[in-house]
Amino acid sequence: MKRCTWKDCGSYAFNLQKENIEQGELCDRHYWQARFLATHADAERYRWLKKCKNLTLRADDSIWTKPNGVKFANAYYLAEGGTQHAAAESLDELIDKATRRSV
Ligand SMILES: [Zn+2]
Repeated sequence: MKRCTWKDCGSYAFNLQKENIEQGELCDRHYWQARFLATHADAERYRWLKKCKNLTLRADDSIWTKPNGVKFANAYYLAEGGTQHAAAESLDELIDKATRRSV
């Protein structure tokens, strides 16, 4: 029998699968909680983008190097007022980094 992997939950409630909802390794409650948190994070990113002044956001494929020396492809070019924000491997990560820096 499957147990929820959310922190120390361990619940066996996997009833959403009966309604063809793929809940993965999360119990009914934590599946919805994870969905809520992901949606909330997306909404915060969107609100941050909306209030940026003089925003530039476009596709980018430049190669960057992490502090540990690993190279990665930048997901998007993001700049405010002509100043580029730090590169990241996904749009979510890029906005999260920019948000932390601009607080
Ligand atoms: Zn759970």
